[in-house]
Amino acid sequence: MNNSNNKQKKVSHLKDKYDRRIDYLRISITDKCNLKCIYCSPEKALKHFNTNEILTDEEIIRFLRVAHGHGLSKVRITGGEPLLRKNITGLITTIRKTGIRDLSLTTNGLMLGSLARKLKDAGLKRVNISLDTLDADRYEGITRGGNIALVWKAIKASESAGLTPVKINVVPIRGLNDDEIESFASLTYDNNFHIRFIEFMPAVGDGMWASDKYVKSDQVLKKISALGKLEPFKFRGNGPSRNFRLKGAKGVIGIISPLSDHFCKHCNRLRLTANGRLRPCLFSKETIDIKTPMRNGISDEQLEELFLQSVNAKPRGHGLQDKHIKSGLIPAMSEIGG
Ligand code: SAM
Repeated sequence: MNNSNNKQKKVSHLKDKYDRRIDYLRISITDKCNLKCIYCSPEKALKHFNTNEILTDEEIIRFLRVAHGHGLSKVRITGGEPLLRKNITGLITTIRKTGIRDLSLTTNGLMLGSLARKLKDAGLKRVNISLDTLDADRYEGITRGGNIALVWKAIKASESAGLTPVKINVVPIRGLNDDEIESFASLTYDNNFHIRFIEFMPAVGDGMWASDKYVKSDQVLKKISALGKLEPFKFRGNGPSRNFRLKGAKGVIGIISPLSDHFCKHCNRLRLTANGRLRPCLFSKETIDIKTPMRNGISDEQLEELFLQSVNAKPRGHGLQDKHIKSGLIPAMSEIGG
């Protein structure tokens, strides 16, 4: 009884040194992907981890139990393409058993059509589906071979399975898809989608990055405002997204501005890479290995220490505004789990 009281006390006080409450983990469960989006990963084959380098289900669960004891309440599964992982539904079921209630997943959707119902039954709450164009040929070009029909099938299947609201991630890139911002926003009139416009970040993707290709959130909002009145919209668990609704629309528009806004002051998250390294910030050079110590037999208390160490190592901000924007110095998102 006393023990659980102590745990409760710890739970409500897990803050980093900048007084941000840390309760959210994004786990990359594979570094492999079945697409090679031109802005996300290079065309040449990336070197992938060997199976034995990837955290096992048991290792993920062990870490989550420890972190949940410190108030971690929200988990997003990502990758690579997370649906490529064997027994993904089994992993979801076991994660839910740790007590993590808010469990979501980011996917390109290609395999989601037939998995949506099973994932929902396993305990998944929501999905974010990446879709950067509404045009089939353009989709094939951006993704280097993807079939947009599968993504629409996935969106419909997610809605009927109750993986809602379906969130659609769009990265507007000048000259590539920025002429579709209004079309994406218009989808919210008749559909309860959350369309999330994410600023293009300077990650390696075959030299795609250039500062003039990045469309600032303000410019996205300006284009959308031409469609109708945009009203601020608040809902629980906003995270770094600023949310709006077009007057009369069913869905929501989310604006995520890692470059143009100081969104780091609201950052509540850590990342765990597929090979078992805790990354305090998406752009951290410093990561903390939990896989090797777990395989060498550390105790739960020692694992807890590594978790707290990564919370303490969170920088005040990602610093992207300064040095990286011009040159594009960070690894491909597919490697670090965007
Ligand atoms: N395969 C899954 C998918 O396609 O959603 C999950 C991994 S993907 C790396 C996660 C998200 O990162 C996607 O929504 C993608 O659009 C986003 N992303 C990739 N590269 C990005 C970049 N350079 N800037 C902003 N977002 C990026």
